[in-house]
Amino acid sequence: MSLGPGALVTAYGAIACDLDGVVYRGSWAVPYAVGCLEQGRRVTPVVFATNNAARTPTEVARQLRSLGLTAEPADVVTSAQAGAAWLLQRLSADEAVLAVGGDGVDSALAEVGLRPVRSLAARPAAVLQGWARTVTVADLADASHAVAAGAVWVATNTDLTLPTEAGLVPGNGTLVAAVRNATGREPIVVGKPEQGLYDAVAKRVGVPISRLLAVGDRLDTDILGAMRLGVDSAWVLTGVDGFAQLAATAVVPTWVLPDLRGLLSPPQACSVGSGSARHWTAGGVSAHLRGPGMVQIEGADEYAVHAASLAALGRTVVLALRAEGDPHAVQVGATFDEVLGALRENAPGQYGGSDPN
Ligand SMILES: [Mg+2]
Repeated sequence: MSLGPGALVTAYGAIACDLDGVVYRGSWAVPYAVGCLEQGRRVTPVVFATNNAARTPTEVARQLRSLGLTAEPADVVTSAQAGAAWLLQRLSADEAVLAVGGDGVDSALAEVGLRPVRSLAARPAAVLQGWARTVTVADLADASHAVAAGAVWVATNTDLTLPTEAGLVPGNGTLVAAVRNATGREPIVVGKPEQGLYDAVAKRVGVPISRLLAVGDRLDTDILGAMRLGVDSAWVLTGVDGFAQLAATAVVPTWVLPDLRGLLSPPQACSVGSGSARHWTAGGVSAHLRGPGMVQIEGADEYAVHAASLAALGRTVVLALRAEGDPHAVQVGATFDEVLGALRENAPGQYGGSDPN
């Protein structure tokens, strides 16, 4: 797919692109992601922004290159880097910071001229806490002692769980809760949905944060964070969340993209059916509100039409469904999920649903 005139990507100063569920899932590339990002970045810078603090930008870039992207470490912003940037504004150069987490945390601190330490003996002025498989109870005890003694406490993110190929494991939010329980204090959080990571992306490419398009698969982090900041967002259906989650939350993305080909397509305007606010069309697909919580979608059986059109429809229809009453009463399973089911038959494995993994 090539970049068309008026492509969505051309409307923004930079793309803050999530990784898991957007660029890859586990060890394989999400279909169309690599080609579309390579095309899109010819006109608009793409920064890969991840809540994962365990890996260094060099390691992330290496993985992206293995998928076929031309990524360099400078194209990656991690929540550990966002945390280090936040700390640098409040500490003096070379101050000791207790590094809890993997290499990603140490390297982010060292990169900005702070001094990562692994022991309380160095009298750390701050704690930067991120997830790593190697974090121990002793590390959490040290962090608790430092925080209780007044150290500035920054958490890279507070995702409660972390998806792995073997299933969910405790994420950084769960480890942060351990320190919170021990100290009664609250950390500064920099990862999505908080502001720090978006700030770091905007600074990296030198554009105002308002010119970003945040691209992600998770409504409660990627999209919520953008929404709070007034930043436009593109929610992609290749990861964790599907329309069932959208209908059950107050989070509303600016755009809905079945996959990243939507970045290269012109955004589709919705028109409201004449004489009734219960009929919408976009690019050959139309939706009719047939009764409380029931939407019938027509013209969605042709994949090419659907991919270009669902973006605009998704937002409008979901807003309308909410306006009808309790969003939890919406029978999403009888509507959008049917459409997604048809898509999955055409292209198995490409479209995220309600499966949390
Ligand atoms: Mg993701």
